[in-house]
Amino acid sequence: MKKKITVIGSGFGGIAAALRMKAKGYHVTLLEKHADLGGRARVFKQDGFTFDGGPTVITAPYLLEELFALFNKKISDYVAIKPLELWYRFMFEDGSTFDYTGNEKKMQDQIKKISSKDLNGYEQLIQFTEKIFNKGYTELADKPFNKITFMLKQIPDLLKLKSYQSVYQLVSNYISNDKLRRIFSMHPLLVGGNPFTTTSIYTLILSLEKKWGIHYAEGGTGKIISGLEQLMKEEGITILKNAEVIKFLIKNNEITGVEMKNGNVLESDLVICNADPPNVYKKLITEHEKYGFFFKQKLNTMNYSMGLFVYYFGSKKKYSNIAHHTIVFGNQYQNHLNNIFEKKILSNDISFYLHRPTASDESMAPINHDTFYVLVPVPNNLSNINWSEQAEVFKEQVINTMEKTILPEIKKNIVSDFYLTPDYFEKELCTLYGSGFSIQPKFTQSAYFRFHNQSEIFKNLYFVGAGTHPGAGVPGVLSSAKVLDKLL
Ligand SMILES: Cc1cc2nc3c(=O)[nH]c(=O)nc-3n(C[C@H](O)[C@H](O)[C@H](O)COP(=O)(O)OP(=O)(O)OC[C@H]3O[C@@H](n4cnc5c(N)ncnc54)[C@H](O)[C@@H]3O)c2cc1C
Repeated sequence: MKKKITVIGSGFGGIAAALRMKAKGYHVTLLEKHADLGGRARVFKQDGFTFDGGPTVITAPYLLEELFALFNKKISDYVAIKPLELWYRFMFEDGSTFDYTGNEKKMQDQIKKISSKDLNGYEQLIQFTEKIFNKGYTELADKPFNKITFMLKQIPDLLKLKSYQSVYQLVSNYISNDKLRRIFSMHPLLVGGNPFTTTSIYTLILSLEKKWGIHYAEGGTGKIISGLEQLMKEEGITILKNAEVIKFLIKNNEITGVEMKNGNVLESDLVICNADPPNVYKKLITEHEKYGFFFKQKLNTMNYSMGLFVYYFGSKKKYSNIAHHTIVFGNQYQNHLNNIFEKKILSNDISFYLHRPTASDESMAPINHDTFYVLVPVPNNLSNINWSEQAEVFKEQVINTMEKTILPEIKKNIVSDFYLTPDYFEKELCTLYGSGFSIQPKFTQSAYFRFHNQSEIFKNLYFVGAGTHPGAGVPGVLSSAKVLDKLL
């Protein structure tokens, strides 16, 4: 008889795991707390505007294509994924900009303009990140790191690749100009880490982007989720929405099923959890006496990624010169990051990411309108910031900063808006301390040191998603489902 698998959570990781296990012949049921799928990639619609809730920069699309290919289907029959020419526009505190693209000639011309002596260093940096990519991504991203012996085997290579340095330090070995250093070291922010403390393994993202480009899904990232939902239904995966798991049923050291908030119980042979591992181990599983000393240490000493303040807004004025993805640096970039990650306080001077999908796709807004979201990294909820008091004040600060830097007169043109704070991530998406990306991508929290894909405690409990190996970001969580392919 086919074994029964329950998947908890419908983020990219959970959906990918459900599909991969279905292709292996398991009987799969996917449980999602909310009425819609996608988790951090949910879609919000308001006043004719379509707001992708989270991921907007789509990299390594082959990982999505693979999910359809498992069933001899083509992704293009479900959603159109297109490459972007301009990847990111960086805007500096003095108003100057840098257009980051896959076109090497354009990249080199701009680097020359800012600091011609760094051109050689840039080329060497790219070559070095290719080596990191070959090891950290091609060789290891989809391999299980459940055994310390496997981790130890990797250490000599990781040391050669300088993984003891931070991303910022590694980039600074090759590049001297401050603006260029910031550009080429910003990638950890995309997966919840501080460039000044995240292991340089994450410079592999530079190389990953260059290999496959940066893409956009027509109609928004939400169209990928709805395409995957359709695929799951066609392939006979049972999807239960409004099905929040509140308890794991445990016999000896095995999970025998889960209990939902609505009182229903679902028995299964295996459970794959896409919910945030530290939250599951701390709050959903109550049998803490089963945790050994080292596991308790790990659980209690982890560092969590930053929180996010995301302000979604629609404008009646079109800002046609604004790129699809812009990163705006404030005057005190390093100080801002220090306030977020170390001091856990809000800053007067902010750096932010501005998303304008209408730059590529008019269907995201009513005619002659623009859809935006602005993402500002903030401290996670270990800060004790009272967001019900602070959020409106912070929103005003964000709007004023955008007016001064990138979107003149935006205030009077906003016709629809809402925001999410770390409280949403904590209460709705159930991440511990409202972190935006689960635990931080530090060396001491990567690979074997992250939460294992096969639970350290219960042998038939598995994890996929941001808090487990290889980590956050859509390629990371899709790869975590590939790890399960090797374990099950
Ligand atoms: C604003 C923002 C922008 C981002 N931008 C990018 C980007 O441009 N590119 C990129 O690659 N990555 C980006 N990321 C990161 C990326 O979105 C995430 O790493 C990834 O989507 C997380 O997927 P996941 O599989 O870990 O699951 P999640 O998306 O975290 O989903 C987990 C699911 O589990 C459900 N759940 C939790 N507890 C329970 C329970 N007890 N019972 C039932 N269900 C439960 C939740 O409701 C949720 O649906 C962004 C993230 C955010 C927040």
